[in-house]
Amino acid sequence: MISVEKLGLAFGSGADLHKVLHEVSFSVAEGEAFGLVGESGSGKSTVLRCMAGLYQHWQGRIEIGGRALGRKIYRERCRLVQMVFQDPYGSLHPRHTVNTALSEPLHIHGIGDVDARVGQILKKVGLDASFRYRYPHQMSGGQRQRVAIARALILEPRILLLDEPTSALDVSVQAEILNLLAELRERDGLTYIMVTHDLGVVVHLCDRVGVMQHGRIVDVQPSEALVVGHGLHPYTRGLVDAT
Ligand code: ADP
Ligand code: MG
Repeated sequence: MISVEKLGLAFGSGADLHKVLHEVSFSVAEGEAFGLVGESGSGKSTVLRCMAGLYQHWQGRIEIGGRALGRKIYRERCRLVQMVFQDPYGSLHPRHTVNTALSEPLHIHGIGDVDARVGQILKKVGLDASFRYRYPHQMSGGQRQRVAIARALILEPRILLLDEPTSALDVSVQAEILNLLAELRERDGLTYIMVTHDLGVVVHLCDRVGVMQHGRIVDVQPSEALVVGHGLHPYTRGLVDAT
């Protein structure tokens, strides 16, 4: 479904060149949930941003659904891959109602039946119709994240890129959102790539995990290996022992 080969990325130029990704490679099967963990600054979000088409100056090869990611497939890519950010304001405009946030992608892609689709997607993420005309500031953090997930799902993508989608939420709300993500995946067979600093989240939701350190993937493991604790790279071992 997804293959990333020798992904490299640098910011700046000349003496200020700062290489943040070094030959990052991994692949994710259809329907799989792949976690990316590692300390802050290790490059997790940058990997997702490259895959979401938010950066264009990377090196290497990214294949999604059997096609190489490039400028030309940008429009189709939106239908295939969507991203959810840590802060729902990453995808929600503060002065747009839920209805506007959810209708907009449909209008952009010329998809009809807007009202019915918006109603269905709200239901899917556990929000009733009364949320339609609310603004982001009129909702709790968890409700806002539900709307952000609904916006990511409205074009019926096959792949969700999730960047710490529960990190900004209260612990009890985190569990609700994780359960929603698990449920959506089971129901629709979505493929997830999920960045998190929480190994508990990986064990709960992901099939496999890639461990990043200083812009490289140093270990890839089935999630159970984090529980069992055998065969881990020393760096991964350290992460497990620290939690
Ligand atoms: P993580 O998500 O693992 O915490 P990031 O992917 O956000 O890490 O960042 C990886 C590195 O790239 C960090 O050193 C960060 O400072 C740097 N970085 C990220 N985005 C930019 C940018 N737009 N310009 C310059 N440096 C950046
Ligand atoms: Mg990050």
